[in-house]
Amino acid sequence: MSTTAKSPEGHRRRTFAIISHPDAGKTTVTEKLLLFGGAIQLAGTVKGRKSDRHATSDWMALEKERGISVTSSVMQFPYRDAMVNLLDTPGHEDFSEDTYRTLTAVDSALMVIDAAKGVEERTIKLMDVCRLRNTPIITFMNKLDREGRDPMDLMDEVETVLKMDCAPITWPVGMGQRFRGVFHLLEDCVYLANGKQIDGLANPELDEIIGDQAQELRDEIDLLREAGNAFDRSAYLAGQLTPVFFGSAINNFGLKPLLDCFVEMAPMPQPHEATQRVVDPDEASFSGFVFKIQANMDPNHRDRIAFMRVCSGVYTKGMKLRHVRTGKDVRIANAITFLASDRDHVENAYAGDIIGLHNHGTIQIGDTFTEGEPLKFTGIPNFAPELFRRAVLKDPMRMKALQKGLVELCEEGASQLFRPLTRNDLIVGAVGSLQFDVVAFRLKHEYGVDCQFEPVGVATARWVHCDDARMLADFKDRQSDNLALDVSGELAYIAPTRVNLQLTEERWADIEFYATREH
Ligand code: GDP
Repeated sequence: MSTTAKSPEGHRRRTFAIISHPDAGKTTVTEKLLLFGGAIQLAGTVKGRKSDRHATSDWMALEKERGISVTSSVMQFPYRDAMVNLLDTPGHEDFSEDTYRTLTAVDSALMVIDAAKGVEERTIKLMDVCRLRNTPIITFMNKLDREGRDPMDLMDEVETVLKMDCAPITWPVGMGQRFRGVFHLLEDCVYLANGKQIDGLANPELDEIIGDQAQELRDEIDLLREAGNAFDRSAYLAGQLTPVFFGSAINNFGLKPLLDCFVEMAPMPQPHEATQRVVDPDEASFSGFVFKIQANMDPNHRDRIAFMRVCSGVYTKGMKLRHVRTGKDVRIANAITFLASDRDHVENAYAGDIIGLHNHGTIQIGDTFTEGEPLKFTGIPNFAPELFRRAVLKDPMRMKALQKGLVELCEEGASQLFRPLTRNDLIVGAVGSLQFDVVAFRLKHEYGVDCQFEPVGVATARWVHCDDARMLADFKDRQSDNLALDVSGELAYIAPTRVNLQLTEERWADIEFYATREH
């Protein structure tokens, strides 16, 4: 085990992701946070992604076309004493696996809720994932410039549906047409939407400026202070209580108090569990795991990037790292970071940071890198797909390009490639049907391959394992028609029907069938 060296750099890190239902305002919030961090400079109000200026966090033409976030990206920016790492996640549910894995790489999350809609279905699912690791959550109630639900009701809904106590840090002054700003409960200060700041709730200046709304506000705050939850940092860090902020992202209102509190209260990099032991972020020796792989992020550099979360130690340019799964030592000379739209070479990266490694097909999701210790970080899932299609080429001469494209795109983990042992089919499995459109689109635009996805007689897949080599060989022999290799060469049973799977599982009781593959 390595010696402990306190890393003030690591302690400055605040690594988080935004979770929300599509359309709640995640992209808009991301942009505003980046503006505060000086990571992007855009004059005036940033428009939604339906306008021509698309969000910095969106990479692909397809996203603009469909108005959804297909890929995730990482944005680092300094704010006050902190170094913030914001991991973007796709909003569309067909890409939920990508989101789940990204959530394994963060220390906290920001939940954005549309104040008119309240807690929506995607938010509930994402919260379930956060709860697996008790990820601390900060809540932003967005779109207060529109008529929405009563703020008390919204907090009630979070408490009952998401089972987290709410502790308002800011409170809206009116809503919709009457939205005047927010009151900061910890600072005892009103931030008005016109930029003015009034100290003290009792300040008569407040009555002069907002009239009757001043007394309404005082009554509400009295009620909150009596009946509501006060902020409790340990309950927040345990994922039991969420501090709540209100505002209007599009008007860049209410996010600055949130960011100011976030850098103060959000957790620094947390320990990570490996099969062998728990790794502390303060350990001097480097360790990290890959949670995401993405092909062709930059059309000018047709490369694949493996995103690695640094769990301990320091990455320095040119250092040698052990790729634990393969046992090989590799020199990492050109790791990248994702500063808004520009990718800069980083010299150093610390616990909590994300670095991008150029991947030539050897790195897989879930892989661990260390300075030599044979660690394997756990908890990075890969789910069995639910939908299967056969890739069919329009031009048979493009077979090589199709294979290459499918392998590279499936390495990203959003969709999965299965190659049957006894046929030349290329079968793609996905959790949502949109993924097929995305793969077809990307094959065309990034690999110049026209391909269609046709129905195929596969209902479900299970990764197969057996310690008894003879038994496994026998199984492979007799079931070869229903066996395939996935993109990393693992054996999988591709069942024509669910009933077939059940029967096969019963017949081959000594073979283990896994619905998820922990890489
Ligand atoms: P995402 O799907 O969660 O990334 O949401 P977007 O950031 O793309 O926002 C969805 C829509 O809501 C866009 O049309 C935004 O312009 C709009 N929007 C975002 N924030 C606000 C807000 O504070 N007020 C209002 N009225 N609209 C907003």
